[in-house]
Amino acid sequence: MRIASITCETYRLPLREAWISAKYKITHHELVLTRVETECGLTGTGWCTTIGVGGLAIATLVNGYMAPILIGEEPRDTERLWEFMWQDLHFAGPAGTTTQAIATIDIALWDIKAKAAKMPLWRLLGGARSSVGAYASAVNLHLTQDELVAQVERQLSEGYDVFKIKIGRNEPLEDLERLRAVRKAIGPSRTLLIDSNQRWRAADAVRHVTLLEEVRPGWIEEPCLSDDVAGHARLRNSIKTPVAVGEQLCNRFEFWAYVRENAADILQPNAGKVGGITEWMKIAHLAQFANLTVAPHNSLELSAHLVCAIPNGYLVENIEGGNLADFGIQIEGPRIVNARVVPGDRPGHGVIFDEDALAAHRLDPTAAIMRESSAHGGF
Ligand SMILES: [Mg+2]
Repeated sequence: MRIASITCETYRLPLREAWISAKYKITHHELVLTRVETECGLTGTGWCTTIGVGGLAIATLVNGYMAPILIGEEPRDTERLWEFMWQDLHFAGPAGTTTQAIATIDIALWDIKAKAAKMPLWRLLGGARSSVGAYASAVNLHLTQDELVAQVERQLSEGYDVFKIKIGRNEPLEDLERLRAVRKAIGPSRTLLIDSNQRWRAADAVRHVTLLEEVRPGWIEEPCLSDDVAGHARLRNSIKTPVAVGEQLCNRFEFWAYVRENAADILQPNAGKVGGITEWMKIAHLAQFANLTVAPHNSLELSAHLVCAIPNGYLVENIEGGNLADFGIQIEGPRIVNARVVPGDRPGHGVIFDEDALAAHRLDPTAAIMRESSAHGGF
C-alpha cells in the first residue's frame, strides 16, 4: 500500500457560547483536518483542534513540508513514519505546532491501518474494553453560582456521576462557595473534579487547594503553569488532592518529566496535541509503568477509542459545546449516550465528517484572523 496524496485544511468553528476559564476567553475552535489517500483507494482522516490560534500554521506544515516527503510511503508503517516526521520537524521544535501537524497525519495513518485490518481502532490498539464512561465538563468560570448549580443539575439528570468545575476566581473564598454549592447538588458520593487552567504559582496553589479540600476534590487539574514541573511536584507533596496534568504537554518526554519528578497522579494526553496515536500510546504505557491513570483531555471521539484500548484509562471528557457533533460537522462517529461512549465496530476511528457543513467554515490559508479569543485575566 502506498500514500497517493495528503491534503490539510483548517476550519474555524464558532462556539455556541464563549468559553471562559481562569486563563482564556475562547470564541472559536479551529479544526485542522488532514485527508490521506492511498493508491489502493483506502482513505484516512486525522485532525487536531486549536482554541482558535495556529491552525493555519499547522496546515502549512502539513501541506508544504510533510505531504511532499510522505507520498509513496507505506501508510501502515506508523512507527517508522512517526519517527521520521518528528526527527524531520525537530529543528522547528519538538513540541507544539509541529506535534499537532504530525498528529493529523499519524491519526489518518492509523485510520487507514485499522480499515485495512477491518478493525475498529480501539481493538487494533489493544482492546481492553468496548465502551467507556464520560465525565461532565464545561468551561464555566463566568457562570453565576446559581447558573453553575443549574448546569450541574442538568448534567445530573443526563446520567453523569463525575463533574468537572472551573475554578480560579480572584477571591479563593468565591471558589469555595461555588464548590460547596455544587457538592451539595451532587451529594456526598459523586466525584467532583476541579480545574484552574494554570492560574497559580505553586505557593498560591498550595494555599488555594488546601482551602478547597473540604469539598473533597477528585483531582486538581492544571494548578500551575504546565512548564513548571517542580512547582507541581512541590504542590503534590503539600496537598491531599491528586494532581492531573497534560493538556498542554506535547510529547512523551514532557510527560516523562512529570512522572520522573513525581509531579502528577493523572496524565491527560490529547492525541491531537502529542503527535497522534503512536505517541499517545507510549504516554499511556509510561503511565502504566508508573502505575498512574490516564484521563485524556478532550477529543472525545478519538479518546474513546484510546481509553478502550488500554487497561489504565479513566473516563473520557465531554466538554459541553466542544465535540464534533456539537459543531454540527460529524455525520457518523462515537457519541455519548447516557454518559457513556461506545466506539463501535466500524473499521478505523469511525468518524465521518459532514463535508458540506465544514465547507462553510473553511479558512483561506492567506487569511488574517480577526479574533476575539485571548489570554484572559480571570475574575
Ligand atoms: Mg483542563
